[in-house]
Amino acid sequence: MLYLSTRGDPQRRRFCEILLEGLAPDGGLYLPEQYPQVDARRLQEWRHVWQARDYADLAFEVLSLYIDDIPADDLLALCRKTYTAQVFGSEAIVPLRHLEGELHIEALSNGPTLAFKDMAMQLLGHLFEYELTRRGEELNILGATSGDTGSAAEYAMRDKRGVRVFMTSPQGRMSPFQQAQMFSLLDPNIHNIAIEGVFDDCQDIVKAVSGDLAFKRQFRIGTVNSINWARLLAQVVYYFAGYFQATSGNEQKVSFCVPSGNFGNVCAGHVARQMGLPIDRLVVATNENDVLDEFFRTGLYRVRGSADTFETSSPSMDISKASNFERFVFDLLGRDAQRTAQLFGPALARDGFFDLSADPLFAQAATRHGFASGRSTHANRLDTIRDCDQRLGQTIDPHTADAVKVAREHMRHGIPMIALETALPIKFAATLVEALGREPERPAAFEGIEQLPKRVQVMPADVQKVKQYMVEHCA
Ligand SMILES: *Cc1c(COP(=O)(O)O)cnc(C)c1O
Repeated sequence: MLYLSTRGDPQRRRFCEILLEGLAPDGGLYLPEQYPQVDARRLQEWRHVWQARDYADLAFEVLSLYIDDIPADDLLALCRKTYTAQVFGSEAIVPLRHLEGELHIEALSNGPTLAFKDMAMQLLGHLFEYELTRRGEELNILGATSGDTGSAAEYAMRDKRGVRVFMTSPQGRMSPFQQAQMFSLLDPNIHNIAIEGVFDDCQDIVKAVSGDLAFKRQFRIGTVNSINWARLLAQVVYYFAGYFQATSGNEQKVSFCVPSGNFGNVCAGHVARQMGLPIDRLVVATNENDVLDEFFRTGLYRVRGSADTFETSSPSMDISKASNFERFVFDLLGRDAQRTAQLFGPALARDGFFDLSADPLFAQAATRHGFASGRSTHANRLDTIRDCDQRLGQTIDPHTADAVKVAREHMRHGIPMIALETALPIKFAATLVEALGREPERPAAFEGIEQLPKRVQVMPADVQKVKQYMVEHCA
């Protein structure tokens, strides 16, 4: 299996070459040259793997179609080390529960940080350790977070050889629970840097440091953002696992509704569908930051400025542009790399939008690729959280509420709809209190974490100071 860039770079790469990379050298995103096809016989085998063995073995089956430069035994061992009941809270790893009618919820948020990013990041931690050890190299991960990504990265990398994490976050702006999760990690390879500023300041610092190519090379700096192909690939697995749980035979179809920000999660659904998983529709749910909903309704992709990017009660979906979206557009355009480069290159930075509404291919987003979309507001989320709690006896977080609200608008008779649960309510307690008048339940392991000792370095929003700190700690 070889990987190409969505912008046409002629060089082809293998999985382990792109594992530690973000963007391709031409600014594009990596995709496999073609999607391996899962025919009826193989889908039936995989259903048996799911039923007879477990999630880790299903993950191995999916991953081995895309990874041919890690020996099979090693890959299986990595999957089994990653997806354990101990780390993910149950044997099923991603248990499906019934909400009402034909609507189900697939729980992706029972990993160490209680958000779905653990599903991919935990695997990435093991893959990084494996590959870095094999090469005899080290990697310093520099990132910016407003919550979920940073803590998922730290919990994935905390005990891994060859990896250090430097994670910037805006001081005092994460929820107390999120701060406690991150700052209570005392592992010597984890560095929390609280920046006196907002999230954009953190992101600017990361960009400035990564833009200093000499520094980047000397200190072997990498990232773990959602454009990383291995993260996306890891997420493909739970679409299969959700399908097997919601159906009794492979002649059936299901739909998924996915609370979306950077389009990583639902893009994995698109990959699963391209492989032949019988998905009827992929419903993209957004909050008030509705870049993606606007595109799927109209064909207009309009990047938002910071003044038009809202802070909402589903903050992990508060995006101005969707960094994985280029992958889907590349497929939508029949894999025309030249056109993809035109749309996403300098013109997008200059104009802030592109418009496919008049292009006949746009209609295929719905007809051929199964996409639909919807949005929710703060009031919708509160209503949905209340309704699920009071009428159905299930407490859901605001991101999952986005998905449930939009899923209900896209039900089709006879086709199970699976809404993806991307976080547990305790992470967003303030909104739950607003909706229900009470604190959400807290898993036993998280009792009293706000009182644990914390390790965090507070710093002004100054690139030099951050670099200096890294130099001192990249021993
Ligand atoms: C990251 C995140 C999302 C958005 O996922 P994308 O892959 O960026 O679309 C949704 N919900 C939660 C809780 C998240 O952490």
